[in-house]
Amino acid sequence: MTESRKEKPVSEVIRERIEAAGASFAANDNIAEFVREGELPELEKELEEKVSSVLSTLVIDTEHDHNTRETAHRVAKMYLEEVFSGRYRKMPRITEFPNVKKLDQIYTVGPIAIRSACSHHLVPIMGKCWIGVIPSDHVIGISKFSRLAEWVFSRPQIQEEATVQLADELERLIRPHGLAVVVKARHECMSWRGVKEHDCAMTTSVMRGYFLRNTATRVEFLSLIKDLQD
Ligand SMILES: [Zn+2]
Repeated sequence: MTESRKEKPVSEVIRERIEAAGASFAANDNIAEFVREGELPELEKELEEKVSSVLSTLVIDTEHDHNTRETAHRVAKMYLEEVFSGRYRKMPRITEFPNVKKLDQIYTVGPIAIRSACSHHLVPIMGKCWIGVIPSDHVIGISKFSRLAEWVFSRPQIQEEATVQLADELERLIRPHGLAVVVKARHECMSWRGVKEHDCAMTTSVMRGYFLRNTATRVEFLSLIKDLQD
């Protein structure tokens, strides 16, 4: 690598790559294809320094307070490797199988646990997701729905957009005749701060194909996911 490369923070190097490609890097975009091998640990180190500055600006004595001494390190690791990892790692490998039995009835998967954070405040969004599928030629293993949902939701998100993103990914993978995705979640930015509303949940849904066109199909799906009412 050149010398100028060394002086530049790795976040800038990655951002320049994205901009050169004309790609978008919104909070809920996946940017894995622009991150080269070995850069994530560097990014984590850079982030740790920045979180450390946040703590010092909050006037927290990280040097003497044993509770916060390692906080910058923990937060950087948590963001990049856990809660926002869906931005930085590639889509999980998902094998599709041919629909040999020619199944053409609705099947549902859920509730799948949803863990995310809002793009506005970076505080948690916790909830559940249900998926309904009327398959065409391809099917995927049931656990793959969870993996895909986790990948999409492990980013700073907007629930409505996350629901659409998950539907888009599923559609690309299995091209079903019908697809329904319903997400019900609580937003900590409504309870921890702001209006301090504790029991308020938001439900978003995307209906495509048969589920969109056919009311009876939609009603059947909603009756199959009765636990949505809990
Ligand atoms: Zn928020």
